Amino acid sequence: MIVVLDASAEEGEILEVEVRIRGFGYEVYRSTGENCTVLSALGPPREDVKEALEVMPSVSRVVLVSPPFMLVSRAFKQEKTAFSVGCVEIGRGKVVLMAGPCAVEDRDSYLQTALAVKEGGADILRGGAYKPRTSPYSFQGLEEEGLKIMAEAREITGLPIITEVLDQHAVEIVARYADIIQVGARNMQNFKLLKDLGQLQKPVLLKRGMSATIEEWLMAAEYLVSNGNHRVILCERGIRTFETTYTRNTLDISAVPIVKELSHLPVFVDPSHGTGKWKWVPSMSLAAVAAGADGLLVEVHRAPKEALCDGPQSLVPEKFARMIDSLRGVAQIIGRTL
Ligand code: PEP
Ligand code: MN
Repeated sequence: MIVVLDASAEEGEILEVEVRIRGFGYEVYRSTGENCTVLSALGPPREDVKEALEVMPSVSRVVLVSPPFMLVSRAFKQEKTAFSVGCVEIGRGKVVLMAGPCAVEDRDSYLQTALAVKEGGADILRGGAYKPRTSPYSFQGLEEEGLKIMAEAREITGLPIITEVLDQHAVEIVARYADIIQVGARNMQNFKLLKDLGQLQKPVLLKRGMSATIEEWLMAAEYLVSNGNHRVILCERGIRTFETTYTRNTLDISAVPIVKELSHLPVFVDPSHGTGKWKWVPSMSLAAVAAGADGLLVEVHRAPKEALCDGPQSLVPEKFARMIDSLRGVAQIIGRTL
């Protein structure tokens, strides 16, 4: 069950409610948000407990939901979560486009790509400064130098930036530069990292782990929200199946409507990692928008053949711009803008 406290509730009153909840045999977990405090009561939801708690003056409402995921669920919050990042509104009517190369490789090429994707219709710039590479011999990213280049691109284009954090040690430095912090598929269940990011006042894009079930993905999001960060975006990026020849991952488009029904959080799709091949990115983007995705995360590179990372799945800027044009019609049909 979720116990939402009145915004004016003071520490003494919060403790009193916690004691009352424990008295009914529940374990209590406190989550201090920007606007109010919520208490998660772990155990079966009970109508009599709800009634007993709702008469307490500092309790604003009690929602009968059961674990595993509560705060991210629609049962807890009916209305969709929406928030702004700079001038970009996420989770509202517009399909938000995040685009850029997999990795920041050097200043000139990043700035040129940033300008090109802005021209093509991107709302937010992506780029990796810390790269989670399968091989330790592959390019690992420019680290802080990459973050500085992205910050310069933000200055020049006026677009917010999203970049990945790989571990707890880098949270502080990445948060200093990024407007949105990405948690990659490989880190979806790095619970310590999620707890740290939960305590940060910075939006987080949480990719689905490559072998994660929908429930595991939502529970990972619960880590962020229960630790106080309510600005969370979920991103479907393909899951591992038996197919390895024609696609890198299998993009689970069905996850979009399912997660949108289960959760109030905005849902994005990454068709680049989802397929691993640029050729399938436009059709999967159309499918994602049609399925109700709140945004896309797309890899774009000026010279994919020379890319240090994920060239085969990167669109050239011209193809990205053409794809955006074709997405407009679909967005319009389902009552969204692009
Ligand atoms: C990326 O966005 O470049 C990336 C590494 O993504 P994922 O975590 O989905 O593999
Ligand atoms: Mn990539």
